[in-house]
Amino acid sequence: MKKTISLLILIFVLTACGQNQTTSGNTNGDQDKNKVQESTQDNNTSSSNQESEEPKDNEGQTEEASSNEESIEEDNDNETKAEKIEEEKEETSKEPVEPKYELTKNWDLKPIGDAEEKVVLLTIDDAPDKHALDMAKTLKELDAPAIFFVNGHFMDTEEEKNTVKKIHEMGFAIGNHTMDHKNLRNLSKEEQKAQILPLSDLIEEVIGTRPIFFRAPHGANTDYSTQTSLDEDMLVMNWTYGYDWNQEYMTEEAIADIMVNTNLLHNGANLLMHDREWTAKGLDDIVKGLRDKGYSFVRPEEIKTP
Ligand SMILES: [Zn+2]
Repeated sequence: MKKTISLLILIFVLTACGQNQTTSGNTNGDQDKNKVQESTQDNNTSSSNQESEEPKDNEGQTEEASSNEESIEEDNDNETKAEKIEEEKEETSKEPVEPKYELTKNWDLKPIGDAEEKVVLLTIDDAPDKHALDMAKTLKELDAPAIFFVNGHFMDTEEEKNTVKKIHEMGFAIGNHTMDHKNLRNLSKEEQKAQILPLSDLIEEVIGTRPIFFRAPHGANTDYSTQTSLDEDMLVMNWTYGYDWNQEYMTEEAIADIMVNTNLLHNGANLLMHDREWTAKGLDDIVKGLRDKGYSFVRPEEIKTP
């Protein structure tokens, strides 16, 4: 009799364990929570169950992956299979970022739809001379995105190429600012072409992708350079304001003050700075000053390109 009772208890315990195993197959550590949830849900694999599991699946993933979380939540088909989530992650990570801003004819950034209005775009020209990498580090620390417009004559050596690669790997966009920084209006069509295309080739060789932004030296576009850039799928971009090439702003304090307190600052302004010592030193204050005024920064990948 004792044996029979023991056997019955054993069978009961085994059955109970078996149930737990089948319902909590997708846990990673936090089993107690799952047990509570599962016992109340009773085989109903609802979307709330899905939600409770998703943050764990996506923990420690990159920004790209966290945007997948949203798409999975929207996709309310109650499938909780890990493989399905993995599949969707791969699919969405290949999709380009939906454009949130478009360039106006005044070179400002205009929100598309309900994108944040109080923004500015940061751009650094004539890179990578002596300060671009430091500037990239400063911006990275402040989590401020930017476009670095590079020149071919600053990419002659392996070291310089490596600097461009590093800046790109830190998450910044690399734009085409021509091979030699000549005024395109003084050049023949062939010469203009030779200023633009070989640099896109060189940038591709260094960072693996062709640039999608073009800025002419001195903002001196020509019909031909504009068309050539468009044919290359590059967005031609001048700027709204900049000061660091004027003698009176060639100190850290002066450039930091004018970039933030100029009356040209407005929603969507496209800010031009250069790879210069005083701008590099003032950059931290510029970014913080703009943030203090309530501005956030446009991410280059959010800009609509041709
Ligand atoms: Zn320039």
